[in-house]
Amino acid sequence: MYPTILSKHQSKAAGIAGEKRVETIFRNHSFPTENRIFHDLSLKTSTTFQLDHVFFSQAFSLVFETKNISGVLTFKENPPQLIREKFTGEIESFNCPAAQVEQNVELMKDWLHQRNIHIPVIGIVVIAYPKQIIKVPPKNIKVLFPNMIPLYIRGLLHLPNKIDIHTLNLLTDELLNSHQEYIPKPISESFSISKEDFKTGVICPTCGYIGMIKIPRTWHCPKCKNNDPLAYKQAVLDWFLLMGREMSNQDCREFLHIDDRNVATRIFKSMNLKSTGTFKDRRYQIDFSKHIKD
Ligand SMILES: [Zn+2]
Repeated sequence: MYPTILSKHQSKAAGIAGEKRVETIFRNHSFPTENRIFHDLSLKTSTTFQLDHVFFSQAFSLVFETKNISGVLTFKENPPQLIREKFTGEIESFNCPAAQVEQNVELMKDWLHQRNIHIPVIGIVVIAYPKQIIKVPPKNIKVLFPNMIPLYIRGLLHLPNKIDIHTLNLLTDELLNSHQEYIPKPISESFSISKEDFKTGVICPTCGYIGMIKIPRTWHCPKCKNNDPLAYKQAVLDWFLLMGREMSNQDCREFLHIDDRNVATRIFKSMNLKSTGTFKDRRYQIDFSKHIKD
């Protein structure tokens, strides 16, 4: 599964780089109207939906779907598909971002209607890759490069206000309250990999060796001989991303290669993990928002 996961990881990383590029454009511009901008918003109506960027004014809202794909791009309509021809001649197809943004527009409208807010919602696809060639754009959705966004927004500023400033502020609070941190499914689940197939052990932050040894007060690397008292924390985070949502004392001991259940209990305490259940079948959960470095 390694090549599959690696290529998935690379395309995610490219996606994030694209979103950062768009974020920078928004940060470096101010618009001559009251506005609120959100990045990476995850909301829920009939289903959970993720919005790369959202722009709200008193007159309209814009929902952006950002793609960071190189090559020559063709948007196909029926069925919706994005075809990429690499500069090497290789051809690949992707889920169509135009269709995706159309769906997000509908979901955003539903979310707003539920709160009795009526304001036009416009979907935009942003192609964030610097050397992009678009051969055939989508029929119904505008495609922009990041640096075109400010001018495009300025072109909409003549539109009449639909909500007052008080409602815009309420809407802002409501969006922030409704936002749900998106946590992907554990790798073992999404790729159907058996738990026995994972290499376990605490990774040495100095040399990358897997299998540091717990010694009194710290963790020791048998390969480079370095000690690191906090090396175990990454292993616990990794377990939640690889294996599951709930960790037992035994899971912890197996993954970190420790024998003493009290050591595992201390680890859970030191990381402020929430727990459910009683002594024997106690399970620990993690709140990633407290552990993720930006
Ligand atoms: Zn080491």
